Amino acid sequence: MNSLQSEPIVIIGGGMVGASAALALCQLGCSVVLVESNPVDDCRDQQAPYRLRVSAIQRSSEQLLKRLGVWPEIAARRSLPFTRMHIQDENGFRTLLDAQDLHEPNLGHLIENDVITAAIWSVLKQQPLCQIEQATPIAAAQEADGHWRVTLSNGQLIRTPLLIGADGANSQVRRWLGLEQSIHDYHQHCIVGTVTTERDHQQTCWQHYRDEGPFALLPLAEKTCSIAWYVSSNQVEQTLSLNAEQQSQAMTQASALMLGQLTPVGQLAAFPLVKRQTEHYVGRNALLIGDAAHTLHPQAGQGVNLGFLDVIALQKTLQNAIERCQPIGDERVLKHYERARKHDAALVQNSMDGLNWLFANQPIAKGLRQLAQPVSQLNSVKAIVSAQGLYGRLTGLSAND
Ligand SMILES: Cc1cc2nc3c(=O)[nH]c(=O)nc-3n(C[C@H](O)[C@H](O)[C@H](O)COP(=O)(O)OP(=O)(O)OC[C@H]3O[C@@H](n4cnc5c(N)ncnc54)[C@H](O)[C@@H]3O)c2cc1C
Repeated sequence: MNSLQSEPIVIIGGGMVGASAALALCQLGCSVVLVESNPVDDCRDQQAPYRLRVSAIQRSSEQLLKRLGVWPEIAARRSLPFTRMHIQDENGFRTLLDAQDLHEPNLGHLIENDVITAAIWSVLKQQPLCQIEQATPIAAAQEADGHWRVTLSNGQLIRTPLLIGADGANSQVRRWLGLEQSIHDYHQHCIVGTVTTERDHQQTCWQHYRDEGPFALLPLAEKTCSIAWYVSSNQVEQTLSLNAEQQSQAMTQASALMLGQLTPVGQLAAFPLVKRQTEHYVGRNALLIGDAAHTLHPQAGQGVNLGFLDVIALQKTLQNAIERCQPIGDERVLKHYERARKHDAALVQNSMDGLNWLFANQPIAKGLRQLAQPVSQLNSVKAIVSAQGLYGRLTGLSAND
């Protein structure tokens, strides 16, 4: 297949967001070099233990992955649709969001991050316009004459009219671009891992809000869930150092017995929670996508869904530029992408903070929750809340845009 440009677009970082961007740009007829420092597992063994990192994938992301031809590859590995979301707090607030209220088959899918990445890579490997380099960029010359020169650890030197940073929260590309970030540390960690449960999860995500932070049970398979257990940062080491029996007791208590006794399967791991917003998502002949541009509190599972919306906006921006014969690395072209995404990402970041505040242990928030209890039972309200989670409508973009 012939490429539209003589020089490839270079994407640094082949995680879920970078690899899907590579596929989306190849779909436009662009040639791409994808640079990833770590090996990617094929994840075909359905009997293998569940991986630690799991994401709740909403409808806009599902639509993108279908359009990119990735969804059947996920189905060939493993995923589980969830149909309901149960939310409760320590003071008796309870609500249930149900896919049936929306006349939808489900509210989203729970999928291991490694499975999503493996599925994208398996499609990418068939794509003649994509060159995959397992390497690290060791130097990037200043952008000059509308190009970047990237030297890779395997000795390759690549000249590109557009450099894309998809290299995660600690992005090297962002540092090359000299872009500042505002950073908010929540002083909280999220402990993740796989557990078996005493009671059936009924394909429901269970979330219990405690004074210390939420505890979530995300269904993976029969009587098997992934946990997201939020603890303050000064408690995390002590919690991880408990033996399996003590961990089982502590997490069962933190879950308020929503699914009875919980038993950890394998190791737990903890991630510090930090909100990051980059001042600009674009520079000259370069831009940032996914966690390289923004991170947020994961309690409503929005991070990679925002990254996939970045990919949709990027594809649309470059498609417009190609149709108008504009240079794809031109900062004025790339600003369209920034305008489409930065405000929306900030809106979702702030709504996560609003959710944190609403479930915090403060008298005003507690009073509001009690007031909200009867309202939250109304089907119309449930439908609106579910629809926002389902389609990512908060962000104002869908895969069809
Ligand atoms: C506890 C927790 C739970 C979460 N749950 C959810 C959820 O339910 N739903 C959701 O949508 N989001 C969730 N998130 C957020 C989600 O995990 C992230 O938003 C997502 O992983 C970001 O993907 P990414 O591809 O942008 O970055 P990353 O996953 O960080 O990928 C970056 C890639 O770049 C590579 N790389 C880095 N530097 C270089 C370099 N110099 N050279 C070459 N390669 C490089 C890395 O090896 C990696 O493969 C959660 C986050 C946390 C912490």
